[in-house]
Amino acid sequence: MALDDFKNFDAALDYERRNSKGKVKPGPALPEDIRIADTHCHIRMTANPALSIARAAHHGFGFLMNMTDPAEDEDTDLEALRGKIAPDANPGTADYELLDGWEQEARGILAGWGEPEVPLPRIRFGVGVHPHNARNWDAAKDVLFERLHDPRTACLGEIGLDYHYDLSPRPVQREVFARQLGIAQEAGLPVSLHIREAHDEAVDILKACGVSEAGCIVHCFNLDAATLEPFLELGCHIAFGGPITFRKSWETRVAATHVPIDRLLTETDAPYMAPEPLRGTECLPDHTAYSLSMLLTCFGYHGEGEALAGFAPRPVDLGISRKEAKALTQIEWGRAHALEHPDFAALQAGLDERAFCECLYQNALALLDREPTSWQEGERA
Ligand SMILES: [Zn+2]
Repeated sequence: MALDDFKNFDAALDYERRNSKGKVKPGPALPEDIRIADTHCHIRMTANPALSIARAAHHGFGFLMNMTDPAEDEDTDLEALRGKIAPDANPGTADYELLDGWEQEARGILAGWGEPEVPLPRIRFGVGVHPHNARNWDAAKDVLFERLHDPRTACLGEIGLDYHYDLSPRPVQREVFARQLGIAQEAGLPVSLHIREAHDEAVDILKACGVSEAGCIVHCFNLDAATLEPFLELGCHIAFGGPITFRKSWETRVAATHVPIDRLLTETDAPYMAPEPLRGTECLPDHTAYSLSMLLTCFGYHGEGEALAGFAPRPVDLGISRKEAKALTQIEWGRAHALEHPDFAALQAGLDERAFCECLYQNALALLDREPTSWQEGERA
């Protein structure tokens, strides 16, 4: 989807969540006053980065992981499209230099909402050469190293393979992926993986290169449990965004219940892939709340006896009749698909909704909000 295809209703500088018709939608079902993390967003690509940050603050977000790519700093088309370049800004300016300004502006927006005391979310950076840009590795790698040494950088990514768009030749994608996995290990940083239509090869490369001890996130997982399994075996964290809320994504919802709770993460990939019921709009970091709410549904929270509405698998998917499917409640659906999951029983035994949400938040902080590594603090090559 091209960026200008998004319907954007944020011109009013408000924090409401609106669907593609501009209608304000109620927030997702979540416990009060929980902390949420978006472990993968692209703040600069949103229509109004300061507003994106202010909205996240308003909605109680504590942490955002802003993903950047040195090969895209010169992407002036994007900036022009968005009309977001300040007249005096250098078109190639990276997020690293823009963040202070966005935060200052975000505080002004919050003050305008009568919320000057609301704290801004903590924002860390991911930096990596995206598989789309692998062909630009030579031009980007010096800046990559420079930014990896920035103490705000907490992750190498997104890196991986994208065989859907094939914007870089596949052998080049593989080589640049492998090189960056090696750099992450040397730097002691976790990685964030973008994998599209190349999961088997990605697993092979991860096995050959080794998974960074600091952690490995499979970003935006949207497939089934069988595809997920080898990544779980490799010890990966799995991040779920908008796609887990899509009507047809029931296999992804089942897969989510296979992830050990201490390796579950929430994210958006803003400005892409807005969740239900906001599909077709620009995705913003605060939309993570909808994916988190869906994870609660997957794990059997959200009230016993409540029907799963349109989010259950179709009867034919389960080999049951239409009538039987109608009688299926959320909790039964969760049990039907997750009983073999070791954490599910523990969940039902005592972890309440709030503790579940806090666990996911702490997963994000433990992985992505760590002190700079000795490599990062060392000599810049
Ligand atoms: Zn992304």
